Amino acid sequence: MVEAILGATGEVCRSSEVRGLHPRVTSALEKVHSREYLATLARPMGEREVRGLDPDTFVSRASWNVTRLATSAWLEAVDNRGGFALARPPGHHAKRGSACGFGTLNHAAAAARYALDEDKFDRVGVLDIDVHFGNGCASILGGDEALRGRARYVSIHQDQAFPYTGGKGNEPKFGSSEILKFVPLAPGTEGEDWLRALEDEALPFLAALDPQLLIVCAGFDALATDTLAHLDLTPEDFYLGARAIRRVFPPHQEVPIVSGLEGGYDTLNLPIAIASYLKGLACCI
Ligand SMILES: [Zn+2]
Repeated sequence: MVEAILGATGEVCRSSEVRGLHPRVTSALEKVHSREYLATLARPMGEREVRGLDPDTFVSRASWNVTRLATSAWLEAVDNRGGFALARPPGHHAKRGSACGFGTLNHAAAAARYALDEDKFDRVGVLDIDVHFGNGCASILGGDEALRGRARYVSIHQDQAFPYTGGKGNEPKFGSSEILKFVPLAPGTEGEDWLRALEDEALPFLAALDPQLLIVCAGFDALATDTLAHLDLTPEDFYLGARAIRRVFPPHQEVPIVSGLEGGYDTLNLPIAIASYLKGLACCI
């Protein structure tokens, strides 16, 4: 699948390689997950052992290293002041002390805290376009009072889908509504209305923070052909969405955009959607 994605992205994907763990990955993860939970994940496993952490999330012996490599890719994109972390598993459901929805480590929250705590950036916006509400990001970032005025998280997602939270006005349950905004969309919503909600609700909330870095939880399971949810987007809609992001955060304003792969399970159309998204980000305004 990785080769298909790289092939589809063509000239906009300039480099791709697997590197080692980022030197700051442990400290970044300790900012967003409890030490007890991380110790549980790090526990050695047998060669054929499979451990279920929640009904959807299973780990094997390789998972601890592989998932920290994924977080490392997000951190490296922060270091590089932009990039796309083409890595799995996804992370936006992972909570401070528990796994959720295929994810054990919350890459986006770790990248946001890394960017803020290492004095790389003063203000960070996180945009989540995965079709599912990013309950892990919301609870980690929204629950951190120190992030008021320094971070904002907005999720645009399908209403009444996994994890069955994230309805309009639900922000106070997760933390400060100064940090959080949820934009749930009715099942069956098509690209035009998704784009309008992105432009009219999600992006203005982030722009009001005047962020110096934008992190995007780039999930592509809002595709109509993806069977895990029921929004009806086309690959072209991700191009238009990325253009909308670029209109708010144009290259000349020098707000780096760090995107990372979250969901997206239609393996035929996923590479096309990622390529469309990257071309939208890369194109001129
Ligand atoms: Zn998803």
